[in-house]
Amino acid sequence: MSDLEKTAIFQSGTETFLTHGGRDPNAQHGFVNTPVYRGSTVIFDTLAELDDARIRYRYGRQGTPLTDGLEAMITELEGAAGTVLTPSGVSAISLAFLTCLSVGDEVLITDSVYEPTRRFADSVLKRMGITTRYFDPRIGSGIADMTTENTRAVFMESPGSLTFEIQDLPAITEALSGRDIAVIVDNSWATPLFYKPLSLGADIIIHSATKMFVGHSDAMMGTVSANDAYLDRLVQTHRTFGLIASPDDTYLATRGMRTLAVRMKEHQARALELAGWIERLGGIEVLHPALPSHPDNHLFARDFSGSGCLFSIVLPPAPRQAIAAMVDPMTVFGMGYSWGGFESLILPSDPRRIRTAVPWEARGNLLRIHVGFEDLNDLKADLGDGIARYLKSAGI
Ligand SMILES: *Cc1c(COP(=O)(O)O)cnc(C)c1O
Repeated sequence: MSDLEKTAIFQSGTETFLTHGGRDPNAQHGFVNTPVYRGSTVIFDTLAELDDARIRYRYGRQGTPLTDGLEAMITELEGAAGTVLTPSGVSAISLAFLTCLSVGDEVLITDSVYEPTRRFADSVLKRMGITTRYFDPRIGSGIADMTTENTRAVFMESPGSLTFEIQDLPAITEALSGRDIAVIVDNSWATPLFYKPLSLGADIIIHSATKMFVGHSDAMMGTVSANDAYLDRLVQTHRTFGLIASPDDTYLATRGMRTLAVRMKEHQARALELAGWIERLGGIEVLHPALPSHPDNHLFARDFSGSGCLFSIVLPPAPRQAIAAMVDPMTVFGMGYSWGGFESLILPSDPRRIRTAVPWEARGNLLRIHVGFEDLNDLKADLGDGIARYLKSAGI
């Protein structure tokens, strides 16, 4: 195999599509990029035009040519029937829920889900008379035993973006087949370049576009894509709520898409290199589904074509000041929320506080790592020194 073939990790045509898709230079005097249309009002010349329902752009809330271009790209990559843009990943999640749930319904959510997803379910959905139950991320076909006649949606995040369990999506969709239950997947980690949940039986895909699509920590956006069965309801709900991503953020997300394949390839290689290096230090648990040591590696290898920029490590138990001794002096890694940008991040977090269905075994202190584009030797030195300070502070 040539080096070029080895790096051809995407479905044929994907890189070309990311480069040329969703834009039409002929429609804007030859300029390569679709410009930002900042606007609310659209002017109609005649009453006939005002009455013509076929006119695409009628008011700013209905989007602009940039909106159409970005939605079309994500629709194509996910293999969806259509996509809508929202102001954040969290609003994409709430929109997906409100697209398929009504009073009296029940939703099942993976216990490994992103914490604000839980918060929406436990507050707003609860107030609306919608019941939430959390399931073991490794439940597989056992999901069938958890459903009732009121179950209308199952929400998954694979892998969970803190604890990195992979859910057996084909087993779950098979177990629910023929039922009127929407399977929703948060695909922010793998992106459609590495994981295509709709092809494995899911119905609705959400993204925190803030992460990989924008890719530069400078804008926030969400996307929701649906198959034919849910698209009309999704579009109606989106429109009725008046959700709209800002034109400038839509521009930044579109620009991010152009380099998504290059960035994912590089993030994947760097994260794997760093994760393997930490594992070889010994005494540290590394939660990265592409590593053979990961308990769900067989599911990952079966369903995913690549891995992302984010993984977690679990350091031996120690008081919180050991974490401070580790992270406070770090110079290359920043400490902060979010991920998917060019800069590496480290974030201490405690899943024990969050879980309700399956307790998280307190094996030690979990830190989530986002691997950006700094020199890998600098990253290893910064992290290695930090781990040494942690162990020293803990007297290990
Ligand atoms: C960050 C994140 C979200 C929420 O996205 P925002 O754009 O920050 O609102 C949703 N899901 C996952 C997995 C995330 O990491």
